[in-house]
Amino acid sequence: MDYHNFDLIIAGAGPVGCILAERTAREMGWKCLLIEKRSHVAGNCHDFIHESGLLLHHYGPHFFRTDRKSIVDYLSSYTEWIPGNYRVQASYREELFPLPINLTTLEKFFRCSLTPDSAQSLLRAERIEVNEPKNSEEYVLSRVGKKLYEAFYLGYTLKQWGIHPRELLPSVCGRLPIRFTREDRYVDELYQIMPKDGYTRLFERMLRHPLITVLLNTDFLKIRHLFKTAKAIVYTGPIDAYFDFCHGALSWRSLDFEWVEMNKPFQQPCVSINYPSEHDYTRSVEIKHVTGQKHARTVISHEYPHSGGDPFYPVLTEPNLSRYSLYRRLGEKETTEKAVYFCGRLATYSYLNMDEAMQNALDLCQVLKKRHHHD
Ligand code: UDP
Repeated sequence: MDYHNFDLIIAGAGPVGCILAERTAREMGWKCLLIEKRSHVAGNCHDFIHESGLLLHHYGPHFFRTDRKSIVDYLSSYTEWIPGNYRVQASYREELFPLPINLTTLEKFFRCSLTPDSAQSLLRAERIEVNEPKNSEEYVLSRVGKKLYEAFYLGYTLKQWGIHPRELLPSVCGRLPIRFTREDRYVDELYQIMPKDGYTRLFERMLRHPLITVLLNTDFLKIRHLFKTAKAIVYTGPIDAYFDFCHGALSWRSLDFEWVEMNKPFQQPCVSINYPSEHDYTRSVEIKHVTGQKHARTVISHEYPHSGGDPFYPVLTEPNLSRYSLYRRLGEKETTEKAVYFCGRLATYSYLNMDEAMQNALDLCQVLKKRHHHD
């Protein structure tokens, strides 16, 4: 392949990489090379047809949700949508409780009936006063108190991150709202939808363009010296690897999946059952609840978090963020001096949702257009 012939080189074919390729090829007429280490596009959104015929999310459940209509409109050129049936329950002492905590959760947990007002008073009595929560433990204690923290957050967080919630930023456990209504959907965003034919189809359709070349099974970092002539490079992989770990390795969390096929249409009442205190896995996921497939069989996956393997999540602790700020500074220098841009969850060490990562990619397209279109 003639590597000198491209305007834009993109490392990583996840949502960010695919959007950058699609936008710059279609809008700006750039010739793009998208390089991906794995054997498929779509990053961790990748889904596939299992031997049973069921569509499965390869790297854990991906709930597409956003408040940004512009993103929905943009993606709608490449997919139809089905409603996102995102409902989660937690198993505690052999009973299931709606998550995030809502009025029904509180009634079941405290074994009483409640109104929004009486639930507020109940939690006021449960809460532990903390002025400005400095970590996830303080955040949860200050919102719901010790009993609910110990039932639904502590064990799950220990398993998920391998460290105590005291070490994690408040925003980690703060991802879950706490509700005084009976709303039982997992997230709050205005649009909660799922691409009808799955994420992989959506991203494959985006990449179907004569100016886009996709190179799978290829590690960008091993061939990066070949790309001196492009207008710009966008790197979406882990930032510490880009800089050869010169400031030490950042902590990442990964997941292993155990797939179990069953000869029945459904195994559980909703897409995820979380296990704060039972099992070594954090949650049992039956994605069929959101793909909407009709099928006589089902497949569930158990998620086992660990610290090796492909990075899925940045571990948001103060020391990791200080280390990341050193890498970010190197990244900024690389951008100014070599037109290498860093975008997405792994390259910016941020716990981004899909729509946030997509918005960052769309914003970066504008920057590239302004700075490099006439290079
Ligand atoms: N969390 C928890 N109990 C749960 C679900 C979530 O304590 O049953 C905490 C945990 O620390 C988790 C964080 O909230 O990592 C964010 O949860 P979310 O479901 O958003 O995680 P993701 O789906 O991104 O893995």
